Amino acid sequence: MRIAEPPRSLRLTIDREALAENWRTLDTLSGDAATGAAVKADAYGIGVDIAVPTLRDAGCRQFFLAHWSEVPAVLAHVEADAVSILHGVRNAEEAAFAKGTGAVPVINSPRQAAIWRDAGGGTCHVMVDSGMNRLGMSLADLGDPVVQSLQVDALMSHLASADEDTAQNADQLAVFRKAVPLLAAKRLSLSNSAGIALGADFNIDLTRPGLALYGGIPHPALRGKIRQVAFPQAAIIQTRDLSPGDKVGYNAKWIAERPTRAGTVSLGYADGFMRLMGQGSALHFGEHELPILGRVSMDMVVVDLGESGAGEGDFLDVPFDLPDLAARSGLSQYEILTGLGRRFERF
Ligand SMILES: *Cc1c(COP(=O)(O)O)cnc(C)c1O
Repeated sequence: MRIAEPPRSLRLTIDREALAENWRTLDTLSGDAATGAAVKADAYGIGVDIAVPTLRDAGCRQFFLAHWSEVPAVLAHVEADAVSILHGVRNAEEAAFAKGTGAVPVINSPRQAAIWRDAGGGTCHVMVDSGMNRLGMSLADLGDPVVQSLQVDALMSHLASADEDTAQNADQLAVFRKAVPLLAAKRLSLSNSAGIALGADFNIDLTRPGLALYGGIPHPALRGKIRQVAFPQAAIIQTRDLSPGDKVGYNAKWIAERPTRAGTVSLGYADGFMRLMGQGSALHFGEHELPILGRVSMDMVVVDLGESGAGEGDFLDVPFDLPDLAARSGLSQYEILTGLGRRFERF
C-alpha cells in the first residue's frame, strides 16, 4: 500500500539564499583559501537535501561528514571525491564502503592508515592532532612508514578554542606548522567557522565552516555578517480560556492571575525546543509576542494568545536567533541547531 505524505504540524523553512550568502561571506573571509562545508549530522539539522545542493550551486566543492551512514544522502547531490569522512576508517568494512562509493576517508591514526592500505588505499586526507586530544594522529605518528605511504590530499587539524581569544589558537597553529614538513600533502586545512575569523594564518588552503553556514555566530567578528537560515513554525492544536488560579502544564509552574486566552502548540523538547529554551521565552504570531506559560512538554508548549487573534490551526513563529537562544538557555548554538527534530517538514 502506498501511504500518502503525512500532514505535519511543524514546519522548518530554510532560507536557501541566506545559506548561499553565508557560504559566500565565509568564502570571502577565507581569502585565498578554498571554502568547504561541514554537512555532518544532516547539515546540522537543516537537512542535506536542501543544504548540499544549495552550497554546491553557491560554489562549494568540498563536503565534510562524520559517519559513513551519512554518505548516501550526500552522494545524491555531489561527486564522491568531494565528500570527506572525518571519523576515518574504523575497520575493513568501512574501508570497503569507502572504496565502493569513492568517498574519501580522513585517516586519524597509523592503525586507520593500515586499514586503508589493506583495502587498496588511494586518495585520503590525514588529520593531525595539534592539541585538542580528540581525533587525529600525533606528529610522531606522521613518521610511521604506513602513514608516509598514504596518498594525501589534505593534511588537516582542528581548533579546540577558535571561538575564544586564547593562546591555544596560536599554540595549535605552531604545532600544525611543525607537522606540515613531516608528510607530503597537496593542501592544508585548519579552520572551522570560528577559525575563519582568526585570519589568513589560520585559513591556509581550505577552510571547513559548519555552524556559521547555518546561522550560528561562534565568533564576535562574524556578528552582523551571518544571516539566520532556519525558521521553525508550529501549529496551535487547541485553545482555551483560563480563569484566575488555573494552573498550566507539568508541575503547575504557571498559574493564571487574570483571565487568559491560552493556546496549546505542537512543539516540545522532542522537537529540540528544550525546557531551558522555553523559560522567559515567547512564540510569535505576526507582530504579536505570545509568552510561553509553564514548562515545555515533550510534544507541546502552552502560550498566552493575548489579543493576537491566533486560533486553532494557525502556525506560530518559533524564535531561532541562535546566539540569542544560546545566551538565554545556556545550551550551545550547535546543540540547539542539531536538536531540531525529525517531525519538522523542511522547505
Ligand atoms: C564539525 C567540524 C568542522 C565544522 O566546525 P564548525 O565549528 O561547525 O564550523 C570542521 N572541522 C572538523 C574536523 C569538524 O569536526
